[in-house]
Amino acid sequence: MSRTARMAKAALTGAFIGVFGLAIGLGVIGSQLTASSPAFAKTTPKPSGSRNCKSTGSFKRWMAGFRAQAAAAGISRRTISSALGGITFAPGIIRRDRRQSFFAQSFVKFSGRLISKHRLRAGARQLRKYKRTFERVRRKYGVQPEVITAFWALESDFGAGMGKLPVLRSLATLAYDCRRPELFRPELLSALKIIERGDLRARDMIGSWAGELGQTQFLPTHYLNHAVDFDGDGKRNLLRSPKDVIASTANFLRHLGWKANQPWLQEVRVPRQMNWAEADLAIKHPRSYWAKRGVRLASGKRLRADRLRASLLLPMGRNGPAFLAYENFSIYPQWNNSFMYATTAAYFATRLGGARPMRKGSVDPGGFDYKKTKKLQRLLERKGLDVGTVDGKLGAKSRAAVKKMQIRYGLPADSYPSNELMRRLRGR
Ligand code: CA
Repeated sequence: MSRTARMAKAALTGAFIGVFGLAIGLGVIGSQLTASSPAFAKTTPKPSGSRNCKSTGSFKRWMAGFRAQAAAAGISRRTISSALGGITFAPGIIRRDRRQSFFAQSFVKFSGRLISKHRLRAGARQLRKYKRTFERVRRKYGVQPEVITAFWALESDFGAGMGKLPVLRSLATLAYDCRRPELFRPELLSALKIIERGDLRARDMIGSWAGELGQTQFLPTHYLNHAVDFDGDGKRNLLRSPKDVIASTANFLRHLGWKANQPWLQEVRVPRQMNWAEADLAIKHPRSYWAKRGVRLASGKRLRADRLRASLLLPMGRNGPAFLAYENFSIYPQWNNSFMYATTAAYFATRLGGARPMRKGSVDPGGFDYKKTKKLQRLLERKGLDVGTVDGKLGAKSRAAVKKMQIRYGLPADSYPSNELMRRLRGR
């Protein structure tokens, strides 16, 4: 994947979060409503245009220019007219792109909703049904079946919810638009190349509003560079061929740096007393280090005291669930840079691999909701700390700011806010 493509993937803003968050709030999350990645991308590389920018100039004229560029890039006239002939600007896509996200949930709530019994059962079924494919894929790419299956479920419920919009129209609209043309123009060109290569026809390209395609929602550039034909029909079909989907997802993960057959996440128990400031994804230690400090397996058994490096991940602080995040965990935020999505997808994979449900701990899962987190962020900003955007989401920057203040106040520095921290921030 090119750097631009990765940025584009990460740049698909929280626009979907609004829709998705509302749906979750109303309790209507169903099989067709999935954690498709635009919903969850957290960090947005600074777009060249602002959210309020207005596109000027005629779409038609812009399109004529783009068609000329595509032809110069070697795309045949036939492909260009099948893909772009008669395409009109889609104002609805721009509205979606500009929509601000508004919801935030704790890891326990978020993962609980996404990892439904239905999804666990459906995942187990897919693992059985495609056992031989998964085995071949594991040998070839070194990616475990449950890791692929968790993404496959979250992104589209195994093809049930891949998006219903014509991708070429969405991409053309976003490529013309003033906000992030540098990200979407290459995506539109990649979509044309996929057609030119014969993998998909223009009319097959139905997907998400932000142009992602297929059962694990690849941006066209990822599709072009990392999709593989694994059922042997000569085409890379990520919309209809489960074998192509499984192998392509593994190939993409390997490209992102997946270490063959290494673990990614493991639930653990932490002792009551320890240096909580060490629970930080930026801090890695050999497993023997954690074993020496009393970290145990969730079952209560001892950790293997070897040199495998891991971070201690406490998504809700010292009183919540606890995990060792191994080096492969760092692939998750590359797939989707939302902390919630990344942790949920990784934990989901452990469940599909047979891990028991996590211990939720004693943190109030509704405690730091959207509103309260926003208040916290404002208080942190007033102390001169960088929280990124005051968006009600407890992302990496907000966590780091919380940790700094916890250290300053002599509170357990587990990077998760508490009412005590709020009181101190208010100066009481
Ligand atoms: Ca194929």
